[in-house]
Amino acid sequence: MYLEHISLTNFRNYSSLDLALGSGPIVLCGDNAQGKSNLLEAIYLLATTKSPRANSDRELVRWGALEDPLSVLRLVGDVHRANEKLRIEMALGLDAQPAGAGGGADTGGEKGSSYLRKQIKVNGVPRRASDVVGQLNVVLFGPMDVDLVGGPPAQRRRYLDLTNSQVDRAYLRALQRYSRVLTQRNHLLRLIREGSAQREELSFWDEQLVEDGCFILCKRREMVIELADISRVIYSELAGGAEALELTYLPNPSELRNGESDWTDQGSIRELFHRQLAANQDREVAQGVSVVGPHRDDLQFLIDGRDMGVYGSRGQQRTIIAALKLAEANFLVNRTGEDPVLLLDDILSELDAPRRQQVLETALSNQQTFITTTDLDRIGEGFLSHATVLKVQDGQLNPIYSVQ
Ligand code: ATP
Ligand code: MG
Repeated sequence: MYLEHISLTNFRNYSSLDLALGSGPIVLCGDNAQGKSNLLEAIYLLATTKSPRANSDRELVRWGALEDPLSVLRLVGDVHRANEKLRIEMALGLDAQPAGAGGGADTGGEKGSSYLRKQIKVNGVPRRASDVVGQLNVVLFGPMDVDLVGGPPAQRRRYLDLTNSQVDRAYLRALQRYSRVLTQRNHLLRLIREGSAQREELSFWDEQLVEDGCFILCKRREMVIELADISRVIYSELAGGAEALELTYLPNPSELRNGESDWTDQGSIRELFHRQLAANQDREVAQGVSVVGPHRDDLQFLIDGRDMGVYGSRGQQRTIIAALKLAEANFLVNRTGEDPVLLLDDILSELDAPRRQQVLETALSNQQTFITTTDLDRIGEGFLSHATVLKVQDGQLNPIYSVQ
């Protein structure tokens, strides 16, 4: 699939941009702070409804635009898929009403001020965020991924969730329910600790937690097995074949990690989950927080049996992430039958020349890839001759040259 048109209004440093695109690689070249990453962020937002870096939607709106009550942030993307074309629209505008008073999702919430309301449409029809994810598939690989191997586990779980959500709506829904149940259950645990609720009340929430939790565990495991196979091959290509990458899923309850569990038997997984909840109840009440379940999962990257999160060199970690991202693209092709749009943000400066070459070759064979760079020399003539090259300057785009 590919994006054949994108328009941005009042998004970050873009006041207004309207861009027609073809398939093939697109190089976004420009100095620092001109809008390269912002443009990739907008594409990522259309695909996933979430920003890879903003903490609140308010950050996305062009500075000063909110002072004009009539101006809104608007993103429009026209997606060309194998058998259909579709338009994804996202708008963020001011709304005087508090959350829950009307349609759409509140994303503001600052006290005493107006609210930001997010609206999403597909082909002109208002949709929920969970209905939009998966319409445009993307793989983003950028500076924020450097900690994926060695950073905190939450980032690896987010990675698993985002990739799975793009191919499986049921997964995304289970995840949303699970996270609501977790909040309620944690609240109840604190009430029990204070003596304002009874332990018996937990069983209702345990049931829900285990139901969606097991589904999430199974889906994550399936995905990691598939990703592990693909990333092993890609890693050895990138690293020259000397080292073997092993990707291991570390589920929680951790009793599932010993390899003896029969994952085809849902009943036994559920039973184990329930047993661990019972065994950890005192601890959970004492801490006032749920400690058993996939919200405590992790993913491990091993080379020669060693945890690269702990022992990997910076270059090894970067290569692992590159392999993982390219594997993710393959995974999406296997599941959807179409190439995802690759968004490669400033990754060329981080890889050595042979690895860079490998990544660029993949980019060439993918239907549409956006690559940002401050320096065209890093890319090489061979690649540039196949690419549309755009200069990004102060929130504006101008063609440098184009193969189309
Ligand atoms: P680099 O090469 O340093 O990564 P870049 O071209 O990727 O640069 P961006 O991250 O896209 O730069 O940011 C471009 C500019 O947009 C920055 O100067 C940033 O401060 C600005 N910016 C960020 N958020 C907003 C906003 N809400 N309104 C206006 N400008 C913004
Ligand atoms: Mg950038």
